[in-house]
Amino acid sequence: MKEAMLYRKLEGGVVECGLCNHRCQIKPDKFGICRVRFNRNGTLYTLVYGKIIAQHVDPIEKKPLFHFLPGSRSLSIGTVGCNFQCDFCQNFEISQYPKIEGRVVGEDTSAEAVVQAALTTRSQSISYTYNEPTVFFEFAYDCAKLAVKHGLKNVFVSNGYMTTEALDTIYPHLHAANIDLKAFREEFYRKHCKARLAPVLETLKHLKKQGVWLEVTTLIIPGENDDPEELREIAQFIRDELGAETPWHVTRFYPRFQLLTRPATPVETLRMAYKIGKEAGLKYVYTGNVPGEDGEKTFCWNCGELLIDRYGFGIMSFRLTDEGTCPKCGAKIDGVWE
Ligand code: SF4
Repeated sequence: MKEAMLYRKLEGGVVECGLCNHRCQIKPDKFGICRVRFNRNGTLYTLVYGKIIAQHVDPIEKKPLFHFLPGSRSLSIGTVGCNFQCDFCQNFEISQYPKIEGRVVGEDTSAEAVVQAALTTRSQSISYTYNEPTVFFEFAYDCAKLAVKHGLKNVFVSNGYMTTEALDTIYPHLHAANIDLKAFREEFYRKHCKARLAPVLETLKHLKKQGVWLEVTTLIIPGENDDPEELREIAQFIRDELGAETPWHVTRFYPRFQLLTRPATPVETLRMAYKIGKEAGLKYVYTGNVPGEDGEKTFCWNCGELLIDRYGFGIMSFRLTDEGTCPKCGAKIDGVWE
């Protein structure tokens, strides 16, 4: 066990965790909501420091990040645990493990070993993903700091529930993030995730202000968040608060975990969301989890020229100039290209 970062001691041995917006007040011998942070004798400990449950070399497109070092490898790691309890979680075996099994598992590793693995596999970045990086913040932080020293970038794939203290702590070492904006209704967050929408919107705005390269993902669930008006509100929020240059990924839901009564998202719904995003003025909208769709390609926002042809997570052709512009009309294509 390692002592946690970002918490404060209250009276009676109670501690308040400041990592995510649940701000759990945890009594002695109790866990936080994520079940991976534990109060022992008035000190908060993380139980997942260096306890990796998954480590793979993924294409960066899998995060998904389509405008950040395209075609590069990203060493991707995760632990068990999550601060959300989404009933539709597509990765619940890992994220909900501590709640389901009542314990923490993972292979012991170190920040040095993770960074070395990234270098050995010629990855350009380390992605903190598979589960919510906030709940293994201390380990991610140590890896990220060391990674930067070795010329690597760091990527968070997150539900966006981090506090501003946590964001400000990781920010000097963070280069890109894909944040879920799961819906635009408080009710959805309460009912399906046991969380709130408002802090997620704040996180998105804060990351944008910090200058972290940001992409947003919405998993579209039939009958839950596929109302065109709600999708329009998401697109308008991205345009007005994050900038029209922020890529929006609208991805296909498959029935998983506890939400088995909803069908997989029809391709037509994803195409509708794509259209709504473009009509709202977003420059880059992508459909996800349906390989072969035009919606996974990058077109010039100005002249419509095909610039990056993808199939799934693979890049079939890449036609941006070295300056990151469209070769046909010269428009600047937003992103981190090298
Ligand atoms: S990280 Fe865990 S313990 Fe900390 S506030 Fe969030 S849910 Fe609670």
